[in-house]
Amino acid sequence: MRNETIAIHAGYDPDPTTKAVAVPIYQTVAYAFDSADHGAALFNLEADGFRYSRIANPTTTVLEKRIAELEGGVGALAVATGQAALHFAFVNLADDGGNIVSVPQLYGTTHTLLGHVLPRQGITGRFADSDQPDAIERLIDHNTKAVFAETIGNPAGNVCDIEALAEVAHRNGVPLIVDNTVATPMLLKPFDYGADIAVHSLTKFLGGHGTTLGGAIVDSGRFPWAEQALRFPGFNQPDPSYHGLVYAERFGPKAYIERARSVYQRTMGSVLSPFNAFLLLQGIETVALRIERHVENARKVAEFLRNDARVAWVNYAGFPDSPYHALVQKYLNGNASSLFTFGIKGGLEAGKAFYDGLKLVTRLVNIGDAKSLACHPASTTHRQMSVEQQCLAGVLPETIRLSIGIEHVSDIIEDIDQALAAACAQQARLDAAE
Ligand SMILES: *Cc1c(COP(=O)(O)O)cnc(C)c1O
Repeated sequence: MRNETIAIHAGYDPDPTTKAVAVPIYQTVAYAFDSADHGAALFNLEADGFRYSRIANPTTTVLEKRIAELEGGVGALAVATGQAALHFAFVNLADDGGNIVSVPQLYGTTHTLLGHVLPRQGITGRFADSDQPDAIERLIDHNTKAVFAETIGNPAGNVCDIEALAEVAHRNGVPLIVDNTVATPMLLKPFDYGADIAVHSLTKFLGGHGTTLGGAIVDSGRFPWAEQALRFPGFNQPDPSYHGLVYAERFGPKAYIERARSVYQRTMGSVLSPFNAFLLLQGIETVALRIERHVENARKVAEFLRNDARVAWVNYAGFPDSPYHALVQKYLNGNASSLFTFGIKGGLEAGKAFYDGLKLVTRLVNIGDAKSLACHPASTTHRQMSVEQQCLAGVLPETIRLSIGIEHVSDIIEDIDQALAAACAQQARLDAAE
């Protein structure tokens, strides 16, 4: 089936007892065992079924199946936030130490996780100086556990050459993990191009309404863990915390995602509540339509900005002269995302005046809402980084990141136009005062 249909139907048939058509919210912690033997079989991962909602819950399972199907994977694990998904995705590969080699254009908190927090736990993030495959390959060694990239970088808007990154990763015996939050499976299916694991912040376009945090890890089922026994002992050696189970043997293509659930979700929590799973499922039902409008509105806003004399630059991957134009054609079917950055003439002060002048477009740190949103990364999401790191991540002092919503595009453009006028008026007042 196609995206639009999967987004509405996958993972759920009307409930057999009640015939409920909408996915029910199973607001329960635990599930009754038929007998002692039934309980033991569930705990041995031998019987299908539920035992405790920290490990799995029927509402959340529908969400997991739907996301796995949208990405074309063998399984998914839904967790409380996108950051929890990234954390579990990394430690599940590198909990015996090692390094993760990453592109530099990352969501700010992911940069902090890889650059500061995981290193204290024995896992080092190595940042290449660009998203080019050869820059990544130079940093890979025998201790590397994964290559990591955002398919579309937040906020840089760069589009990664997934196929080339996957080839570099596989040539060196490691999987490619991608954060597919900004693209969503509506614009891009990274497993079609060789990525092994996809991570999502469901908080953004998939949920789509700025109401609910959530994250997911999706497993393509294709990485050959058993062929990399020395690099990945966690999948190939008996797990003493699970009475000697060997994940690659027991779960085959689902080894990675089942280990993430059995080891990390079970012991560290970060559980998505069933109510949030329900809200995210509601959002996903309309994501295909929303993304079409997001993309169309963003193209019109980017063109408006580019043609405006008050604007210094617009970094929108959909322009024919963008360095990412060819990759937008190859991976996104010509549809640049609705997330892009721009700078207004007059630098930081003018940028702040523009930002403060917005009336309809909301000032905040979030993306992927039905509403149009604006963020000033240098003072918020990317504040912890050095100026040099900010520059590599695509953030200049004056950069404004827009996440264009699905309001009427003329209303969005009119708001941006009046905020540009407000910024110019302030600039004129400052000039007159000098
Ligand atoms: C927001 C975001 C995250 C973090 O997701 P949360 O749900 O806020 O934890 C990770 N990656 C990208 C690309 C994001 O935009």
